Amino acid sequence: MIAGNRPINYLRISVTDRCNFRCMYCVPSSPFAVIPHNKIASYEEILKITRIACELGITKVRITGGEPFVRKGIFSFLERLCNIESLKDISITTNGALLNRKKIKKLTALGIRRLNFSLDTLDPVKFARITGRNRFQHVENAIFAAHELGISPIKINTVILRGINDDEIEDITALTLSYPFQVRFIEYMPMGDSAVEKQQQILTGEIKERIESRFGKLVSIKRTTNDGPAKKFQIENAMGIVGFITPISSHFCSECNRLRLTSRGTLRPCLLNNYEKNILNPLRNDASDDELKQIITNTLSKKPSFHGLMDQVGKGVPISHMTSIGG
Ligand code: SAM
Ligand code: SF4
Repeated sequence: MIAGNRPINYLRISVTDRCNFRCMYCVPSSPFAVIPHNKIASYEEILKITRIACELGITKVRITGGEPFVRKGIFSFLERLCNIESLKDISITTNGALLNRKKIKKLTALGIRRLNFSLDTLDPVKFARITGRNRFQHVENAIFAAHELGISPIKINTVILRGINDDEIEDITALTLSYPFQVRFIEYMPMGDSAVEKQQQILTGEIKERIESRFGKLVSIKRTTNDGPAKKFQIENAMGIVGFITPISSHFCSECNRLRLTSRGTLRPCLLNNYEKNILNPLRNDASDDELKQIITNTLSKKPSFHGLMDQVGKGVPISHMTSIGG
C-alpha cells in the first residue's frame, strides 16, 4: 500500500482505551467515558482486520492502548497474532506495571522480542504524581526483567515536562551509559484537554542541549528499519542510545509508514489528525474481504502529507486524546 509516495507496512493496533494509569499528559483532565464493551473490536475482529491488512502489505504490527495488558485474554490474542505468517515483526508499547518475569517469558516464548516501556522519572514519588499510581517499582522491575530475559531492543519512552521531570533529563539519559536501552524523549503533544499547560512543553533542541552540556557532543547513529520516527544518537562509549521523537519541532510525516486501528474499530491514517473511518461496522454487517480492503485503501488515500497539529490546536480544534486512539 502506498500513501502519497509513502509505502505503508506498519499497523498500530490499540486493543483497549482503558488504562490502569492516569498520566497527566495523556488522559483528559475532565471526566471522560470509556467505550462500552460492545463497541470495542473483539480479538477475533482485530485479527480479521489485521489479516486483511497483511494481504495489502502490512508486515509490522505494534500493540498499544490504553494499556494493552489490562485487557483480558491478551496473551491468547498475542499468540494468535503471532501465528499470522506474513507478520514479520510484532512489538508492544506498555507502561509495564502489569508485567513481571513470568509474563515477559511468555512473550519471548511467543517470539515477541521488542518492547517499549513508558517511564518518565526515576523518582517513585514523582512517578506517582505523573501517572497517578504508586507503581514505580513494578515498572522498574519489569524493565530489568525484560533486559535479563533478552528482550532487545528495550525502548524507554519519556515525555519531559517543564517543572515536572525536566530536572531528570540527565539522569534518565545516563541509563544509556550502563544499559543497552534506547531512551527516547518524545515531545509532548497537546491532545484533548490534558492537565499539562503549553508552557510545560519542552522541545528537543533544549533537551539535546542539556544532554550535551553534561555528556559531551552526541554522536548521530545511522537509522535502521525498526527505528520508527526516532532520530538516534549516542553518548561516546555508551551502551545504549538516546532517541528524539519530534512531532512538534520537526515533523516526520514524509517518512510515516503507519496506519492505526483504534479499539473502537476505526482506521486512522494519522495520529494527529481527526480523520478516521469505521471498519468495524461494515465487518459486523458482513462486508466481504474485498469491501474491507477497499475501506483500508480509501482510508490511506486520506493520509495527510503533514499533520498540522499546532495549527489545529491554535484554532481550538481538539485532537482526540491518546487513550482513545492508541499512542
Ligand atoms: N499505555 C502504554 C504506555 O504508556 O506505554 C501504551 C499507550 S501510550 C498512549 C503510548 C505512548 O504515548 C507512551 O509512551 C506515552 O508516553 C505517549 N504519550 C501519551 N500521551 C502523550 C502526549 N500527549 N504527548 C506525547 N506522548 C504521549
Ligand atoms: Fe495509560 Fe500509557 Fe496514557 Fe499513561 S501514557 S495514561 S500508561 S495509556
